[in-house]
Amino acid sequence: MRTYGETIFAEMTRLAVETESVNLGQGFPDTDGPRSLLENASRNILEGVNQYPPGPGRPELRRAVSRYRSRHYGLDFDPDTEVYVTVGATAGIAASLLALVDHGDEVIVFEPMYDSYAAMISLAGGVRRSVALRRDAATGRFTFDPAELRAAVTPRTRLIMVNSPHNPTGTVFTAAELEEIASLCREHDLIAVTDEVYEFLTFDDHRHIPLATLAGMRERTLSISSVGKTFAVTAWKTGWVSGPEPLVRAVRTVNQFLTFSANGALQLAIADALDNEDAWVEEQRAALQGKRDRLAAGLIGAGFDVDMSEGTYFLMADIRPLGYEDGEDVARALPREAGVAAVPAKVFYDHEDEGRHLVRFAFCKRDKVLDEAVARLDRWRSEKG
Ligand code: PMP
Ligand code: GLN
Repeated sequence: MRTYGETIFAEMTRLAVETESVNLGQGFPDTDGPRSLLENASRNILEGVNQYPPGPGRPELRRAVSRYRSRHYGLDFDPDTEVYVTVGATAGIAASLLALVDHGDEVIVFEPMYDSYAAMISLAGGVRRSVALRRDAATGRFTFDPAELRAAVTPRTRLIMVNSPHNPTGTVFTAAELEEIASLCREHDLIAVTDEVYEFLTFDDHRHIPLATLAGMRERTLSISSVGKTFAVTAWKTGWVSGPEPLVRAVRTVNQFLTFSANGALQLAIADALDNEDAWVEEQRAALQGKRDRLAAGLIGAGFDVDMSEGTYFLMADIRPLGYEDGEDVARALPREAGVAAVPAKVFYDHEDEGRHLVRFAFCKRDKVLDEAVARLDRWRSEKG
């Protein structure tokens, strides 16, 4: 792990605090989740739900996960054997990769990629084969070249990691894109691990399609999600893995020795919210779409070129129209010079040049916070001339 220093999120948030910057770096909202969720969790703690839950998770949460996957996507999972609760999606990703990737196995990932994938593939002794998502000039969204994806498969390929809605580009994979991935998995007998933590945060007409709903995919896909983004409680670190029994059993075997179990009082409250707070989630989705538009307009006004975001908390901005080339230099200078923190996209790439000119901004903040960030960036730009 020598090549892995402090994560970019920790570094940028520390810099934001030191410089009293508006933090549009690390993706966390600055408002709370639904009142019922917070009250239920507090009550559970006061009423004594404070000892180890079962390793696989409270049955109430496993049943609620099974119900919502069925209600929203028509996917049926046995809550006793096919749903497993983890300490955030992060532990779900860790346990899945440690369980399924052997020394020397190749894992296909799309770059830019969320930072924990690379680290966990390394810890498992696996080898990354990254396929680039590039901005399509016609649509303004990031997508992959199917031929490049096919060329990444070798006899050693074991697994493909799929994150949609995608952090950091905001791409929500279409049915056609998912079918490209699915057909490859079927042809080469690959396992898919999907990171769906932004499943409900999609904009305009874009909607999340789980890879497991495609033909032949349910039996070879582990789907991972978590409470943090859906209910705006990123500190709660409660996630879940769903999939066919043999794959979930493998995750369970590994996770027994990672964390054994996750927080029980929160699990009960989350079960209730998954059943009863669809309207709150829809309101949050609509509000986030407005925030995306607000920040995008502000950044364009401040001279950035902004790419289309179809979901998540994030959008990508190109710094070249401002006369810069390296997003890392800009992101490191912004807190001190402008009082705004963002994340250089380069850190999400294996081939850093692909993302050199891009900076990721989070828009999951109150409108007045977004407006303040834009005002600061405007000032910075005029000072720089
Ligand atoms: N995957 C992606 C794509 C993320 O952006 C994040 C950040 N929340 C996670 C996983 C981690 O989720 P959790 O906080 O539930 O561990
Ligand atoms: N998922 C969040 C992001 O992409 C942060 C997660 C973290 O801090 N590790 O900004």
